Amino acid sequence: MLIVMKPSASAREIDAVVNLIEAIGLRAHPMPGATRTAIGTTGNQGPIDGRRFENLPGVAEVIRVTKPYKLITLDLRPEKTIVRVGDATIGGKELAIIAGPCAIESRDQAFAVAEAVQQSGARFFRGGVWKPRSSPYAFQGLGEKGWEIMAEIRKTFGLKIVTEALEEPHISLIEQYGDVIQIGARSMQNFSLLRKAGRSKLPVLLKRGMAATLEEWLLAAEYIMAEGNYNVILCERGVRTFAQHTRNTLDLASVPAIRRISHLPVIVDPSHGTGSAYMVTPLARAGVAVGADGLMVEVHNQPELALSDGAQALTPSEYAQLITEVRAIREVAAPVCQGESKGEHA
Ligand code: PEP
Ligand code: MN
Repeated sequence: MLIVMKPSASAREIDAVVNLIEAIGLRAHPMPGATRTAIGTTGNQGPIDGRRFENLPGVAEVIRVTKPYKLITLDLRPEKTIVRVGDATIGGKELAIIAGPCAIESRDQAFAVAEAVQQSGARFFRGGVWKPRSSPYAFQGLGEKGWEIMAEIRKTFGLKIVTEALEEPHISLIEQYGDVIQIGARSMQNFSLLRKAGRSKLPVLLKRGMAATLEEWLLAAEYIMAEGNYNVILCERGVRTFAQHTRNTLDLASVPAIRRISHLPVIVDPSHGTGSAYMVTPLARAGVAVGADGLMVEVHNQPELALSDGAQALTPSEYAQLITEVRAIREVAAPVCQGESKGEHA
């Protein structure tokens, strides 16, 4: 059930609706918008009789939700969500650039890459501290030692730190030292991890599972939002297909498909989406052209020596060139793409 308040509804009227939702044992999710507040409800197993809400002061409309999602939808929030991370944003006018190595390997490596990405204007530094690897014998990340390096990078360069939580206890560490919690493709349906991230105050970057449909991916975002964390960023990183010329098939059609359903920002990861450095820039250009709110790109100062994902890592100079190109495309694409989704404002 979705309760749409009148544009003139007062804070007291909104509170009264929220209180009634809670009194019947459900959870209320008030979403203030540019013109009105809508209140989503979760926690019910079957349909709720919405009539008791219809006559409450300030209520414009009670809508039965027949779609599987309730909170990610444009019905609840017609304007695009802008995720704010300090003075940086994802989903607004600015093209969000999240760049850095696949894994934090050493202080020298992380600093070299951080300096390069900051110079080209990135606001976010990515780097795995704990790495989900296919082989148990592969480099698993520096773990907590990596955090000392991340904390220094954050202080030295003013970059926002994005790193993946593999397990629930990682979330509180990211809360202490980082800025955005990444949920990786392999964890997209780790529901207890999603719930834990949903109880965090930090934004969550949710990667698409490697065999996830759009609906499964959006329902994973619902898990996070249902716990009260509305700052979710979706990241298209490709899915497994029969293709052998790429590591994954980057599904750029998911960007406009999400725009039609959801207010959440969506970014594209052409690094994991292709697996090969030579394809990263062309697919990054395409991602921006198709209307993505940002990019996640892997960069390494010595890709040939990287401990993970070296084949898809750009050198700092290749990365700088990519940024120049995607900025130019963004200039042209942003007004066109923003006009596409109804009610969007930056
Ligand atoms: C990563 O970002 O380094 C990563 C492991 O990505 P994904 O979860 O998309 O495979
Ligand atoms: Mn990687």
